[in-house]
Amino acid sequence: MADLFAVLDEVLELVPTGDPEQFRACCPFHSDMHPSLYIHLGKGVWYCFGCQEGGTMTTLLRRLGIEATERSSEMKQPILLQILQDAQQCFKSTLVLHRVARYYLQKTNRERFCNVFGLGFCDPQRLRASLSTKYTDEQLVQAGLQARSGQVFLANRITIPIYDINKRLVAFAGRALSDNVRPKYLNTPNTALYQKRHILYGAHLATDLIKTQRQLGKKPVLLWLVEGYFDAMHLLAAGIPAVALCGTALSINQLRWLTSLPVTICLALDPDPAGLTRALEIFLTLRVYGVETAVCSLPDGKDVDQCDPKWLQSRVVHDATRALAHLLFHTSYPPMKLARFFMRLPRRDRSELYRALLTYSPDYAAAVSQAIRALRPRQRRVPKSGITLAELLLSAVAKGIISQQELPRDFPDQLPQALRGIGKHLLSGEPLSEKDAKTLARLLASPLEVSGRALLAAWKVEQARRAVIRILEEAKTAPEETLPALEQRFLEADMALRQALAERDAAIATDDFLAALDF
Ligand SMILES: [Zn+2]
Repeated sequence: MADLFAVLDEVLELVPTGDPEQFRACCPFHSDMHPSLYIHLGKGVWYCFGCQEGGTMTTLLRRLGIEATERSSEMKQPILLQILQDAQQCFKSTLVLHRVARYYLQKTNRERFCNVFGLGFCDPQRLRASLSTKYTDEQLVQAGLQARSGQVFLANRITIPIYDINKRLVAFAGRALSDNVRPKYLNTPNTALYQKRHILYGAHLATDLIKTQRQLGKKPVLLWLVEGYFDAMHLLAAGIPAVALCGTALSINQLRWLTSLPVTICLALDPDPAGLTRALEIFLTLRVYGVETAVCSLPDGKDVDQCDPKWLQSRVVHDATRALAHLLFHTSYPPMKLARFFMRLPRRDRSELYRALLTYSPDYAAAVSQAIRALRPRQRRVPKSGITLAELLLSAVAKGIISQQELPRDFPDQLPQALRGIGKHLLSGEPLSEKDAKTLARLLASPLEVSGRALLAAWKVEQARRAVIRILEEAKTAPEETLPALEQRFLEADMALRQALAERDAAIATDDFLAALDF
């Protein structure tokens, strides 16, 4: 499967959770009003809290009726890439000859981008003349250059080549020569190579710049998230890592890429109400993922590419509380929508950002907390209670909160029978049964706000207590002559239990949450 994520997102519209590998969706197997189906892509398991179905990715795909077919279109990829390369050559050579286009670029101070970013111009006659001898019409359609009617998509526009993260030329955008032509920007359509909503313009260049800045020891490295192609070019040309959204809402695939980078994302979208609202939503979404964020406060009416990059860098608000207050100040965001974001934020962020709300407006803050209270009961539908200590511990191991090395050697054998398969899978990679996959997915999706140290301590107490009880049971029926040895074992076990209890108390002292759970 080329990209399981993309395939599932297409059918289920995945919603992010706090874990970058885990997503929620409305369950297609029962009537589900809000997402109760959890999918953990990293572990390849799924579980629905509504209908309690679950298992491995294989069963999910089968039940969704998705088969690993339709690979045939990908066979054509090399030729599509070649067609786009040839088109790029043609666009570039056309631009050199096209005085009106060159004049437009000069006038808008964009001529400086021509060579670095490969700008060109699309003259439909020239394009067809240069490609139609080598390729069939059908191939040009497949490459996204023309419609079946023969109409060339980017006719009479400045062309901007779009690369994917692997530095392959996969599509073009076209800018009209006049602001009176609508739309101002146009993209070649989605093809086997290119899905608009999954690509961030400039990502292939930004990645290199991020690497360089990290090697130079720069901290933090900022990746600028901007609105348009020329905004990104403007910053990239100044050596600043930047990517452009180009009018799309941030897709989960883009999010996944952003969250995988060792950077702080600096939002610098257009300073109009629509742009700021989007900035606010992206800001909160990134926080939900645990990504560091900053905001560049642009003055009214100024876009990124009209500002000096040095000056822009001086306008960055790093402090999250102030950044959020800034965004709220410039938007009128409904408290209910903000509450939904807030509930998904990591704990430390929640209180910090709530302070931002108070600074912004105590009334607004009150409205948000009221909205959170109104939303809470529905959230509780995810069964939280009834989870055993063994399950909690396994869940912590699966989530990487507790490493394998920290576990007792005989850990899988200490587990109840029903969980032993999962223990063996996590510790030694033994294959998962469908039933175990379902349980594992449920554990991964269950909230866990307990420290690993405290959990392990609680687990050791339980094991030590069991050992003591076992010896006492044994003593009931043991022959007289074995009693001294048993007593010795009892003393050792009792000592181990005391030690475990002391360790647990030390761990709990630093973990109010576990104390509240009363283990
Ligand atoms: Zn369901």
